[in-house]
Parts: sequence; C-alpha cells; structure tokens
Amino acid sequence: MTLTAPATQAEPAGTSAATVEFRGLRRAFGSTVALDGFDLTARPGELLALLGPSGCGKTTALRMLAGFEHPDSGDILVDGEDVTRVPAHRRDAGMVFQSYSLFPHLSALDNVAFGLRMRKIRTGERRARAAELLDLVGLADRGDQYPHQLSGGQQQRIALARALALRPRVLLLDEPLSALDAKVRLNLREEIRRLQQELGITTLFVTHDQEEALSMADRVAVMRAGRLEQCAAPAELYARPTTAFVAEFVGTMSRVPGRLAEARDTVEVLGRRLPLDGDAPEGALDVDVLVRPEAVRVAADAEGTARVVATAFLGSAIRLTVRLAGATEVKADLPTHEAAALAPGAPVTVTLPERPVLVAPRTA
Ligand code: ATP
Repeated sequence: MTLTAPATQAEPAGTSAATVEFRGLRRAFGSTVALDGFDLTARPGELLALLGPSGCGKTTALRMLAGFEHPDSGDILVDGEDVTRVPAHRRDAGMVFQSYSLFPHLSALDNVAFGLRMRKIRTGERRARAAELLDLVGLADRGDQYPHQLSGGQQQRIALARALALRPRVLLLDEPLSALDAKVRLNLREEIRRLQQELGITTLFVTHDQEEALSMADRVAVMRAGRLEQCAAPAELYARPTTAFVAEFVGTMSRVPGRLAEARDTVEVLGRRLPLDGDAPEGALDVDVLVRPEAVRVAADAEGTARVVATAFLGSAIRLTVRLAGATEVKADLPTHEAAALAPGAPVTVTLPERPVLVAPRTA
C-alpha cells in the first residue's frame, strides 16, 4: 500500500507535533504499584516506544495520557499544558489497542467516522474525511465491509484510521501488532512507521517486543517496576546501556565473572586486564563483565579449557553457547563458515572484546 498523507491531514512537519511530559507519576492498584515516580518526555513528532517486561507499567502510563486512568500523584503535560485532570474526550489523543476493538455492527467507513459523528461533524464532511483516512491506510476500497469481513491486519489499519480521524495531537499505540501473525506484523510495522513520519505526529508505542521497539522507534524508553530505567535512541541503548537491566533486556548479553583492580579502573577477566568503559559499580571487587555475542571471539583450540555446548543457526551467523571453566556460559556469534568446525564438545578458547558493554555487581 502507499501511504501518502493528504494535504488536509498533514500539518507541515513540526508545527502540529506535541511535546508530552510525564512528571513523577505514581499509581497504585491496592498493594500493586503500577507507576512509581515515572518521568519521561516525548519530543515533538517522535515515535517513542515504551518497552519493558510484563507488569512494569507501560499500559498504565499510556492509559493515563489518554485519560482512561488517573495518577495518585504526578502530572501529565501536553505542550506545557497540564492535562492531568482533563477528561479523556478532551485530551486530543488517538488510541489503538491490541485487540482490534472495532464496532462489529458498523462498516469500516462508519468505524472511522465514529468519532466525527460524536463531534457532530455533518454527514458529507464526515464521510469525506473517513474516506480520506481509509485511503491513507490503503483500504479505500473496503469502506463498506464489516470487521468480520476483514483480516486482522486490515482491522488494525481501520483502527489506526479511526484513531487519526480527529487529527489528534498524539497517537497512542498499545501493543497494536501483537495479535497479528509474524508476516503481517512486519508489514504493518513499516507502514505505521512511514505513516507516523509522514504525519509528523508524536506517537507513544507500548510493546514488550524489543525488536519491534528498536526497529520502529526514534527513541526507546525502557521501564522497570513503574519507573524509567533509560531512554535513548536504539543504537545508543544497545551500545551504551546505563544499567545491567537495560543491557540484558535489550539484545542478548552474557555475564562473565571478573575482578576489579583496587583502583577500580580495570577489570581482570579470563586472564586479561581490560579497561572500564563506564563507571565501576560500587561494592565488592568481584563483578560480572557483560558482553554481546557478536563481540566475543571463539577459536578451536585442542588445549582450550572451554567447551562448545550448543549451536544455533541464526541465518546470517551461528550462535555458539560455550561453557567456561566453572559453570559460566557465554554466547558468541560466528560467521557460518567459521563455526563449521565447532560442534558441541569442541575444545575452544574464548576472547572477550577489549571494551565490554558494562561491568555490573556479581549476581551469583
Ligand atoms: P503488560 O506488558 O503485561 O501489558 P504493562 O507493563 O503494560 O504489562 P500495566 O498493564 O501497566 O503493565 O500494569 C502494571 C501493574 O499494575 C501490573 O501489576 C498490573 O497487574 C497492575 N494493574 C494495572 N491495571 C490494573 C487495574 N485496573 N487493577 C488492578 N491492577 C492493575
């Protein structure tokens, strides 16, 4: 499908896009604290993904911005205006949910036009606007069909068109792709991103799928237990996570035991002394060194004390699991041709990168 924003829909980039600020949001449901001092700012026109494990508060934060949920304390600002106590229907937010949530008894066109009808926009204008939106999501010819006659991906496009019909200041997407099968999900990922960029609309996107977040977002906000852990562009988050939680939640990471020098400026690991990239953790000198699989080198070595214990074909590479002396296991990605001789049981030596991603307090 082609996604070209009609002139009436898209404001010039940057002029209509809103800044969204969550300030110190707290919300408890009984003894469960869903948000615990949550701070985050979305920049005008960006696609900001909220990523984190189940129950970390992503949906609660999004629903609060929509006005469906209210904080016990803290504020939400849109373009500097405090909307914390503004009712949902006056928030100017378009939302798409995980389940398609279309009205089953309404046609695709009437679903898209629903919000316009509530706003008492007259019939002709309403239908023209709805048709424009259907065109925008590539379903101009499906306006007369009912939800049960449409595929899951098509229903989500209708939901997206409905969310955009009122020209919202922010677009909120709550796991909009997770009910779809893999191929449709990949297509819709790209289409949502293109549409979002063309419209220049500030978009918050909740997902627990790190690949989805990294591939679509301008920035990714990693949440943990109701708080923001780190917010950064995907490449930055991957290469320079500021906490072990982020390092291990985003991408694959292995922990290798090491020991900090007394001066805490280097770490000794697998018989080498490596410089530290960031700050050394406080506390004990025994630490874990965190490394990415693509940065670990593995070579066949009859004298080696490490052993390959498993191999997995990834397409472009083979991922080896190597057991070091002790019970430590390290993942390493090797080009397919290099890994051919490294079957499970093969003795090997393992070389860590000069700069590990992070050094963290020892967990076990
Ligand atoms: P998931 O990825 O599983 O959807 P999430 O990060 O979106 O998780 P939330 O749905 O925001 O998490 O929920 C955060 C916590 O608050 C969870 O422990 C959840 O059970 C709890 N919670 C959320 N809404 C309610 C509610 N209405 N009543 C009771 N508990 C709630």
